[in-house]
Amino acid sequence: MTITKTHTIEPEDITAVELECKACNSKTVRPLKNQTQVPLRCGNCSALLVREDTRENAALNDLIALLKDFGERRTELGFGLRFHIKGLDESAK
Ligand SMILES: [Zn+2]
Repeated sequence: MTITKTHTIEPEDITAVELECKACNSKTVRPLKNQTQVPLRCGNCSALLVREDTRENAALNDLIALLKDFGERRTELGFGLRFHIKGLDESAK
């Protein structure tokens, strides 16, 4: 018999997003209750973080809006959604 321990996280558990600029490594944490848009430029060095007219920008903003909806229990899904977290399993090497 093999026993496997799996760690999961639900969208409701996510309370904030952290953005780290690849140019200057400054980090900003945005609580989901306040966050509505991903900033286009770094607040520290003004480096471009994401281009406004890209699929990534639209998808990131949709993801943040969806996570916010989960946190505020405004979704009506007929299933529970859980993400498996890599690296927390005791058997992970
Ligand atoms: Zn920066």
